[in-house]
Parts: sequence; C-alpha cells; structure tokens
Amino acid sequence: MADTISIEAKARQLGSILKDDQVSILAPDRVAYSRDLWPRGLIEFSAGRPAPSPPDVVVWPETTQDVVHLVEWAAGTETPLVPYGGGSGVCGGAMPRRGQVVVDLKRMDRILELDGPNHRVRVQPGMNGWTFEEVLGRSNLTMGHFPSSIFCSTVGGWLAARSAGQASTRYGKIEDMVSGLEVVTGKGEVIRTGNPGAASLGPDWTQLFVGSEGTLGIITEATLKVLPAPEMRVYRGYGFDRVSAGLEAIRRFMQKGLLPSVVRLYDEFDTVIARSGAGRGSEADTLVKEVMGRLTHLTKPMLPWVKVAALRAALSKPGWLNKLADGLLPKLTGQGCLLVVGTEGRPRLAQAEADRIHEEVLRAGGRDLGPRPGEHWEKHRYSVSFKQSGVFYSGGFVDTMEVATTWDGLLRLYEAVKTAVSPLVFIMAHFSHAYPEGCSIYFTFAGSSDDPEQGLKLYDQVWNTALAAVTRAGGTISHHHGVGRSKQAFMVEEHGDSLELFRMLKRVLDPKEILNPGKMSL
Ligand SMILES: Cc1cc2nc3c(=O)[nH]c(=O)nc-3n(C[C@H](O)[C@H](O)[C@H](O)COP(=O)(O)OP(=O)(O)OC[C@H]3O[C@@H](n4cnc5c(N)ncnc54)[C@H](O)[C@@H]3O)c2cc1C
Repeated sequence: MADTISIEAKARQLGSILKDDQVSILAPDRVAYSRDLWPRGLIEFSAGRPAPSPPDVVVWPETTQDVVHLVEWAAGTETPLVPYGGGSGVCGGAMPRRGQVVVDLKRMDRILELDGPNHRVRVQPGMNGWTFEEVLGRSNLTMGHFPSSIFCSTVGGWLAARSAGQASTRYGKIEDMVSGLEVVTGKGEVIRTGNPGAASLGPDWTQLFVGSEGTLGIITEATLKVLPAPEMRVYRGYGFDRVSAGLEAIRRFMQKGLLPSVVRLYDEFDTVIARSGAGRGSEADTLVKEVMGRLTHLTKPMLPWVKVAALRAALSKPGWLNKLADGLLPKLTGQGCLLVVGTEGRPRLAQAEADRIHEEVLRAGGRDLGPRPGEHWEKHRYSVSFKQSGVFYSGGFVDTMEVATTWDGLLRLYEAVKTAVSPLVFIMAHFSHAYPEGCSIYFTFAGSSDDPEQGLKLYDQVWNTALAAVTRAGGTISHHHGVGRSKQAFMVEEHGDSLELFRMLKRVLDPKEILNPGKMSL
C-alpha cells in the first residue's frame, strides 16, 4: 500500500501525527539520510550517485508516544520504517530504500535517571556517545564503552548493532552493559524488559532485542550499568617477531584471569601504521607514504597529486603491495609486531594488574618497549578511522572486517582471510577485544579500480571472498559491526536453523514487516 501513497501525502499524514518540524521531505534531508557509513555507499557516491534510493520522508520523534504513533501509522499504511541513530553503521543497516521512512531518534537524547547508588542509568536511544561519557564523567562514572565512532554514534545504535568499545576486554561489549530496555514493536506495543539486580525469572528478553538492528522493535529507552571512572590508566608496549608469539602472550594473560582494558596486537604491517602514522592519515594513505619514504628516501612531504597517483598505483597492484608489506617492509622497519596493553582502575590495582601482565608477556618472549607506544595509541585512539577519505578521493576504497574465533583457530582464520583476498586488495590486521576463550581480528583492506562501477564489483567480490574464507575457517562473520546489508548472505552459514526462530519472532513482533525490512536475514 505504501507505494500508492505519494510522498506529499505521506508527509501530510505524518504531519497530523507529529509536529511540522518533526517531518521533512526536503531533498537535502532525503539525500543526507539515504545512507549510513557503509563504504559501499561512498563508492556509489564517487560514481556520481549520492542517493540512489532516498527515503520518502525523514521524521524525528521526540517521545515514546511519537514512536508508537509512527509505528501504528506505518502498520496501517504498510510503510517500512528505518530506525536511524548516528548513521555511523558500516554495514548498511540504517540505509533505507525508496518508499521507506527514516526515523531519526537523535531528538530522544536525554538521561532520564542517573541512579548513582545502584550504578545504573536510564537513557534515551538518541544520546550521543561522547556527550554521554562527558555527563557520566561529571559524576565520576563511566560506561566503559568507547567505540572509535564515539563522536558520531548513539546508545540506540550501539544496542541495535551489538557494539564493542576499545576497552571491551575489561568492560565487555554493549550487551554486557545493558540491564533493561523499552522497545516499541511493529504492532505499536511498548514492551519493557529487564529486572533489577541479577534476577533469574525466565529468559532474558532484553537480549532478544540487542543486536536485532531495528528489525524486531525500535529501542526508546535503555537501562545501562555504570562503573566508577578509572583513577589511573597504565599503558605499555611490547615487541614480538611474529604474530603467533604475540597471540600466545595474550592468551596466557587472559587465561590467568587478568583483565586489561586495552589489548591490541598489530600484524607486521599494521605495526608500521600504529607506530608511525596514526592520526596523520588513513591506513592506506600512510602505507604509501611509508613505502615511498623508505624506498626512495623521500624526506619531504609528497605533493598531493603525487600522493594520489602513488596511492592509485600502489592499490592497483595489491598482490605486489601485500608481498612488500609482508616481506620487505618489516625488514626495512625492523619493528616486528607491536602489542599494546592497557590497564585501568584504582591506582594500586591498575598497576598491580599491569605488573602481572608484564611478567606474563616477558615470559612469552615479548620485548618491553615502555609506555610510549600505549600513550601514542591513546592520543590517537579516535583519529585513524576518520581519516580514510584520502583513499576514496583517489578513486579507491577502504573497509574493515571484524571477525572472531577461539584461540586455537585464530591464526588459521587470519591466514585464510589474508590468502583469500590478497590478490584483490591490500590487507592488514590487528587483534583486539580479547577473551579467555578467544579474540577478534580486525582486518583493514584497501583497493582501487579505474572506474567506480568496476570498483563496486571489486568491493563486492572482496567481501564475498573474505566472508566465505571466514566461514570456511570457522570464524564468526562479525564481532561488533553487525549484519546490515553487507553480511546478510552469510547469516545462514553462521546461524543455520536458528534463523527460523528469528523469522518466528518477526512474525509475532512485526507481522506487517514494517521494521527495517530487507536487513538481517530477510
Ligand atoms: C569511524 C568509525 C569507527 C567505528 N568504530 C566502531 C567501534 O569501535 N566499535 C563498534 O562497535 N562499531 C564501530 N563503528 C560502527 C558503528 O559506529 C556502530 O555500529 C554503532 O553501534 C552504530 O551506532 P549509530 O548510532 O551510528 O547507529 P546507526 O548506524 O544509525 O544504526 C545502526 C543499526 O541500528 C539500528 N538502530 C539505530 N538506532 C536504533 C534504535 N533506537 N532502535 C532500533 N534500532 C536502531 C539501525 O536501523 C541500524 O540497523 C565505527 C564506525 C565508524 C564510521
């Protein structure tokens, strides 16, 4: 039915439910909300298609009742709704299609209750990550959730996509921090989940909605756990000759029950980036500077056009570039693999934990590099991810893939992905988000093609090849970026028959299929 209603009629109907300034069909709004930060959308942008499928309408609800009315309208007119937080998702989860209505939740951005004695906070979904931490910090509290996108992502988006912050090894992922939700289902019902304390009354309904990417309900409120802000952070860097040795060190201290906040092991090439270029350019951008600088002894900064040409040339020969990165560059730099470990909390405890980790790492063959690599990382912890535009300007693309598996399969997974995609794109990785049972691998890949259409084909080929390699090697296809559109095809491989449970829930909670259709496995 939605397609039979004109855009103007939809806006009029929505204008009778919400206030005028909560509804827009203006072209700039429709274009701005036509995508999230899925890099595929950026390639389309380069191809001259800034908004291939803009939503019909953008709305900004301000209360849970607004969301209820929107959902009732959408169910009545069979118009799909796409919940939208910060739009920082990198899998196309918040990307609408024509005919759909984007529901931006950023005006629902209040802290409803800061329950200090019980270390809980009730917050609306549109709360920006950085603002949230700043407000908590005034009461000496923290969530401990620091995704690299903290400046441009929201609490609702974190919960919907099962986000992980940089300190997840100590504080857990967002699913470990949430104790209750308020959700509006596709029938317009308001469901409140969660119990005070660690109750054991049946299944955990909160977790049903965490990670559901807006397909089972729109999150309108969350109750989250908070902790005392750390009084001290201790960082230290260690060198290893090989990735395998660094992984063994991490496994050992994680299985001794030690809980660092930050654990990052960079492979040989990512080490060059982490130690030299972080914050000054994108990873692939830095690669070119580093390679050219080392090989030709260029000391002055390159002219912009030389840089773009060099970047294009380098990325058009990924096989060559990967061999260079694997073989020659580590020898030239002599750096091996960098491990950064951070602990935090009360000063004596943080220091004691750092000391124990230090002993374990040295015992596993690590070379002590002192505190500087960790301090360098902390200074640039939010910079690198936001500096990738240079590669897109030069006609290329960059993307990241975060997968995970158990300790015994990590190296196999790492090698399998590298081998599979090395002929197609330049690839590097670091290992972070460690657990006693395993760890996540964060791959960064960059590619280039002469024209954007070929670039899109290459991009799709790389993802299909990489995800196939991941599933063959027994890894999980995502650790914290979620599914969106980019990983849908592989959901069956990962979830098998349990996907039928999801479809059953969808029929009950969203019978008209108006909540973010075409995402997850549908
Ligand atoms: C530079 C950069 C760095 C990043 N670093 C990290 C990182 O360190 N860790 C990490 O986990 N992720 C990271 N990401 C990915 C992204 O920031 C996360 O997926 C984040 O959780 C998305 O939050 P958002 O508010 O932007 O959500 P959006 O992108 O707006 O939405 C994400 C999904 O959630 C749904 N959704 C949003 N709000 C709601 C709601 N209230 N109710 C129901 N569904 C909703 C959307 O429909 C969509 O499916 C990074 C992204 C970028 C661009």
